Amino acid sequence: MIGITSGTRIEASASLRDYEELCYISRDYIRAIEEAGGLPVIIPVHEDRELSREYLRVVDGLLLAGGVDLSPHFFGEEPHPKLGSVDIERDEVEMELARLALELDMPILAICRGIQVLNVAAGGTLYQDISQLDRTVLKHRQSAVGWYGSHSIEIVEGTLLHRIVGKTRIRVNSFHHQAVKDPAKGFRVSATAPDGVIEAIESERHRFVLGVQFHPEEMWRRSPEAAALFKAFVAACHQTRF
Ligand code: MN
Repeated sequence: MIGITSGTRIEASASLRDYEELCYISRDYIRAIEEAGGLPVIIPVHEDRELSREYLRVVDGLLLAGGVDLSPHFFGEEPHPKLGSVDIERDEVEMELARLALELDMPILAICRGIQVLNVAAGGTLYQDISQLDRTVLKHRQSAVGWYGSHSIEIVEGTLLHRIVGKTRIRVNSFHHQAVKDPAKGFRVSATAPDGVIEAIESERHRFVLGVQFHPEEMWRRSPEAAALFKAFVAACHQTRF
């Protein structure tokens, strides 16, 4: 049973009321976990923070999903002019879930925004916008379809990611403008893009805690490497029933 985090959104409504407050997640995450043999459950943005612990009691693994930017206050910075939309309630819930899951040594797969949440929850920092990097960066917000790997990444040999993927170079999709700056203590970089942007990190102290900056949930139908990520994650969750 894999808990997938979700976001909030206020949307104009076609029914009798003017707007509706939604809790949502892309179905791609649900399909990817199903395909890998897991039972996906959506963890809503909940108001009672005590419930975070209860949600983790019923799942075997945590998928920190993609979404809007993480508020820089969580890593001690003021907002950069290029900071995008934030979802404060989601930030609070996910930071708590990530900290608790790390404490429990529960398997975590963190995707895009998820890698940012994971790194900051563990004590690391972020670039609020990759223009803050003092070198020419390649295009990390592709215009191509989601399943297409628009840039390459170099995977560090001997890492968990390398063991899963079995290659040192693959192409991944890219839909981000934030990135990991300083990986949290106890974490190592497991992949970088050719411009040096960190594309994956993993914990050295946990059994399966992996964050990727790309979106494997949009690639698994065509990319065996992306499919292998979900398979390995679900397998790790099977081994560690909570
Ligand atoms: Mn990228």
